Amino acid sequence: MSSTTPISEHADVIIIGSGISDSLTAYSLLTSPKAPKSVVMLEAREACSGASGRNAGHCRPDAFRGFTAFSKIHGEEQADEILKHEKKVLELVDKFVRTNDVQCDWSLGKTFDVVMGEDFGNYVKGSYEKYAEYSGKGIDGVRILDEKEAKEETRVPAALGAYEWSAASIHPAKLNSQSWVVHTPTSKITSPIVIHATNTFAATLIPSLKGKIVPVRAQAHRVIPTSEFCGEKMLTHTYIFIEIQPRTFLFVDTKKDRWRIHFGNLPRYSIYF
Ligand SMILES: Cc1cc2nc3c(=O)[nH]c(=O)nc-3n(C[C@H](O)[C@H](O)[C@H](O)COP(=O)(O)OP(=O)(O)OC[C@H]3O[C@@H](n4cnc5c(N)ncnc54)[C@H](O)[C@@H]3O)c2cc1C
Repeated sequence: MSSTTPISEHADVIIIGSGISDSLTAYSLLTSPKAPKSVVMLEAREACSGASGRNAGHCRPDAFRGFTAFSKIHGEEQADEILKHEKKVLELVDKFVRTNDVQCDWSLGKTFDVVMGEDFGNYVKGSYEKYAEYSGKGIDGVRILDEKEAKEETRVPAALGAYEWSAASIHPAKLNSQSWVVHTPTSKITSPIVIHATNTFAATLIPSLKGKIVPVRAQAHRVIPTSEFCGEKMLTHTYIFIEIQPRTFLFVDTKKDRWRIHFGNLPRYSIYF
């Protein structure tokens, strides 16, 4: 809705923003067993116009590298929670895309952290060892590549080593913009499905239909049937008379007490006949 459109005075939930966080929150709420009756989403700009609609599309959890930095700020327990959460996000996005069959070029595969310098190599190695020690059982799903393997597999000649784990890439705009935006003079409505049924006014909204779908002039006359066409003798069918003259039409809609006769002239491209 636009800022001038009045919105309801009450909502069970108000979500401010329409990025991936907001959209998935709304989706989870509305598909939960105890879905709120009303959810209002407020967006200051266009739907998904923030980072969610234009990011690089790398869905890549931090498998271990952030453990050192996160631990310094939040402690090891929370650092572990953050890393587990990142992994969970990958799983949830994967599930969401598959369950809803979202055509967003989702590609689940592997990612490399490529070590290009000794300092960084030591830092990453330190994080790996600290996290492996913290979890007490190593780090699931992370493969360590030595220099030779890294050069071969990453195809980066200067690689000193690499770490490999699961990640995905995605087309962010396709994930987020599964909807059309319909603008009216006072509002803006988004929906994944827009049914366009504006009849002869179609070309106003879809200019490519200009000249192809056009209004047809017609006249309707009400005729009182004579006694010859009443009671038992009434017409049982409706009629269409075509090609009385080129591009003219006539049809008769018969009812017990009246007929309606329509005359018209068809423009060349009318889709009606
Ligand atoms: C260029 C770029 C590349 C990125 N690449 C990646 C990547 O490869 N992988 C990755 O995981 N992450 C990446 N990110 C980060 C990722 O896109 C964001 O972390 C994520 O999209 C944030 O989602 P969000 O829903 O929290 O915020 P947003 O998508 O930014 O949504 C916030 C929404 O809130 C609205 N809003 C703000 N203030 C108000 C208000 N007062 N009232 C109403 N609405 C308001 C905004 O208009 C916006 O639509 C990238 C980000 C950028 C910018």
